[in-house]
Amino acid sequence: MLYLALLLIIIAVVLLWQSGRQRREAGLPGGRLIYTDTRAWGLVEKPLFVAELGLTGKPDYLVQSGDRIIPVEVKSGRTPEAPYDSHIFQIASYCLLVEKHYGRRPAYGIIHYPKRDFAVDYTPQLEAALLDQLAEMRRDEMRSDVPRSHNSVARCRGCGFRKVCDQSLAGEAGDV
Ligand code: SF4
Repeated sequence: MLYLALLLIIIAVVLLWQSGRQRREAGLPGGRLIYTDTRAWGLVEKPLFVAELGLTGKPDYLVQSGDRIIPVEVKSGRTPEAPYDSHIFQIASYCLLVEKHYGRRPAYGIIHYPKRDFAVDYTPQLEAALLDQLAEMRRDEMRSDVPRSHNSVARCRGCGFRKVCDQSLAGEAGDV
């Protein structure tokens, strides 16, 4: 049993190291642990919008830091050891929206998990990766044969398109 537990720990460490390495190779920041004072956070009432990118979104909070405005995204559920890539892209899109809307580039955005907060540096590499993703999504919008990007049955089960999606893993289109 002890050997099995040790093996699982080793596998988890290797997977964590691999994902960190892949992220570093892609030039994406991993997120820095920070302490935040939530009293300074201001609720955002209206979504931010950038017409030329067709991008809209509403961070949970904005916080003033010197002359900068920092977006904050609050996540519930399990607190990961490092922010998930999807959360990194989400906070990056809020940094982009804040920069375009207020004319001031945030140095970073904050992801607030239940047990820790991470600052994700809004680097030129992260911005470029985000713009690539947005361009790819716009291209996919025009296509009718976009391949599934994951192998998660649970994700398909919770998806509102599963009844019409011919790639659903939660059953054939029309079954559910
Ligand atoms: S049902 Fe289709 S659209 Fe929905 S998550 Fe699954 S593959 Fe994606």
